[in-house]
Formats: sequence, structure tokens, C-alpha cells
Amino acid sequence: MDLILLGAPGAGKGTQGALLAETLGTPKIATGDMLRDAVRRGTPLGLKAKAIMDAGQLVSDDVVLGLVREALSSPAAAGGAVFDGYPRNVAQARALDGLLRELGRKIDAVVNIGVRDDAIVRRMSGRRTDPETGKVYHVEHNPPPAEIADRVVQRPDDREETVRERLRVYRESTAPLVAFYREQGVPVHEVDGDRAIEQVQGDILGRLGR
Ligand code: AMP
Repeated sequence: MDLILLGAPGAGKGTQGALLAETLGTPKIATGDMLRDAVRRGTPLGLKAKAIMDAGQLVSDDVVLGLVREALSSPAAAGGAVFDGYPRNVAQARALDGLLRELGRKIDAVVNIGVRDDAIVRRMSGRRTDPETGKVYHVEHNPPPAEIADRVVQRPDDREETVRERLRVYRESTAPLVAFYREQGVPVHEVDGDRAIEQVQGDILGRLGR
């Protein structure tokens, strides 16, 4: 099954995507994670992407398409994938359609996780990542275990001004994808993301008939 998770930054796509990927037995393809990894490793791509990411803007469509193409070619993704943070605009959605078509596949469903803007800003300011494992925590809702509390860090793009810019970019470029997929006849499941992680996950699985 090929599934797209849509939702504003901080809506919970990463957390829900990881749980879903585990349940469905398919990899999660998260372009943001791949880009952060490239930044951490200091690759030429990472060096180029860092300033764009820190400003809350979108990295070029060509760059992310290359990352997704590579991830999709892995044998682990032969049975489908959970896409988190990709596509981010209509051009990327068309490119993804093309990639999947080459594989004889198509997007089976879209899950749109909705959370109000004020809740998003609150969530993101409390978000922390473990640089060693990439696992994401929240200082209030999902605190990191004591033994790693000293090493968790805040993503540079989770600062309030950048979050607001990312929300603006989301509304302008990414939100139109809901209509794009509806017009194509792809089922779009609207899920209220302003609830406990387990509730949201149960809702998503129910909508997908799992
Ligand atoms: P995310 O972790 O998905 O919120 O992504 C963090 C940042 O990585 C975004 O704000 C963008 O700068 C960049 N990024 C991630 N995915 C994409 C994408 N599909 N297209 C363009 N830029 C992306």
C-alpha cells in the first residue's frame, strides 16, 4: 500500500508515520529526515539544503525527487511505502505519480492530519530530537527518558518565527494537494490530530480498514 500523510508541520506525521509503517510492514519515506541526515553528514546536498531548511523554505523539487527515487528503489519498498513530508507541492505530487507509475503502482490513500495553528506552534516549541537515534520527543507529552535528556536538541527550524513561515509555506504550496488527490479520485481521510497519539493512530488504522 502506498500512502501519503499530509498535515502541517508538527501535525504528527513523523510519529504517526513511524507507527503506521511498522503496522503496515512498509518503510516510511520521510524527505525531511533524509535531508536532516544529509545535513548531519555534511554532504554537498546537506550543505546546500541547510540554509533553506533553517529558513523554513522548501528544498528544490529535483533534489527531493532524487532522494525519493532512491528510497523507492530499495527492495524494502517493493510492497509500498508511507510518505511523510513528500509530496510538498503539486509538481512533487505529479513527479511521485510518475515514479509510482513506472513501478506499476499508484497512491492508494491520503491521510490528512488536522491540527489548529496555535496548537502547532505550542507543539513545535516543545519538540526535541535525539541526535543519535533521530527519535522525536515532546517535553510535555512524550518526554525523553532521563538517560538521554541531556543530549536531545531542538531542530533549528522549530523556532517560532520559522514555524510560522513553515505554516505559511504549507498553506500556500502543500494544502492544495488535498484537492489535487480528491480530483484524482484518491481517498482522502481527514483525521483530527489534536488528540493523544494512540487515539489518532487508532482512527487512521480504522479509516484504512486495518
Ligand atoms: P519536515 O521534517 O518534513 O518538516 O521537513 C523539514 C524541512 O525539510 C522542510 O521545512 C523543508 O525545508 C525540507 N523538506 C522536507 N521535505 C521536503 C520536500 N518534499 N520538498 C521540499 N523541501 C522539503
